[in-house]
Amino acid sequence: ALVGKVAVVTGSTSGIGLGVARALAKAGARLVINGLGEAKEIDKTRRRLAEQFRVDVRYDNSNLMESAGVARLIDGAVNAFGQVDILVNNAGIQHVAPVEEFPGDKWDAILALNLSAAFHATRLVLGAMKENGYGRIINIASAHGLVASPFKAAYVAAKHGLIGFTKTVALEAAEFGVTANAICPGYVWTPLVERQIDEQAAAHGIPRDQVVRDVLLAQQPNKRFATVEEIGALAAFLASANGASITGTALPVDGGWTAH
Ligand code: NAD
Repeated sequence: ALVGKVAVVTGSTSGIGLGVARALAKAGARLVINGLGEAKEIDKTRRRLAEQFRVDVRYDNSNLMESAGVARLIDGAVNAFGQVDILVNNAGIQHVAPVEEFPGDKWDAILALNLSAAFHATRLVLGAMKENGYGRIINIASAHGLVASPFKAAYVAAKHGLIGFTKTVALEAAEFGVTANAICPGYVWTPLVERQIDEQAAAHGIPRDQVVRDVLLAQQPNKRFATVEEIGALAAFLASANGASITGTALPVDGGWTAH
């Protein structure tokens, strides 16, 4: 359904971004993947995507913490493929600490990557999408874009901001065949969550297994982690022609968490 379309997925060398990249490649999109990590491992991931789904896949190692890195990513995609039809703003980081102890540099970094990078990338692709009469901006927000939890001040602020930004883009682009939506996962088992378990254990003063049961899945009424495949399938649907009337939304994939 996405044959010939060009998709850029930020932070797609692992976790949810990689799940979204796989789903878009499966639907036939050409891809630019991006993220940090071991060059050899990433090239294996890139080749596997290209061979399995028979699509062109490029890797861009830009660090999106700075707007110059975002510009390099988008310029590279346009130079290689001519345009960007689908932009998935997914790259994100987390830090868990009480507000009084929250390091200022962590706050700045989380706002820069989880919120500002999405703005910089969207700004650079939106004009051409409007001219083409088709475009999809898909922002990976979070249940924490809709509700808060303790010890996640910067993340909750950035994700709430990302949903606000999504709505504004949706309104500006609505008449041009361009949609903008936020996907709001609850807990998905990825390296980001794995790293958080130790931080949460320290912040709450409880052991790891209790963090999984009483902190992470306590929020999720269905008592299971969402999968990266589930997030990828929703992104592919939003990108498809059938997603044309869905815009300005924040769609929870959270096992009922935000129904509380
Ligand atoms: P992850 O740590 O597995 O993947 C993050 C990706 O971002 C990696 O590819 C990493 O290399 C890349 N990245 C990190 N810093 C970067 C930088 N400076 N520049 C470019 N790329 C960078 O994390 P994940 O759990 O897959 O999270 C992906 C997104 O989903 C994040 O925005 C996160 O907030 C969101 N999310 C995750 C969950 C969850 O439970 N895992 C829930 C809700 C929302």
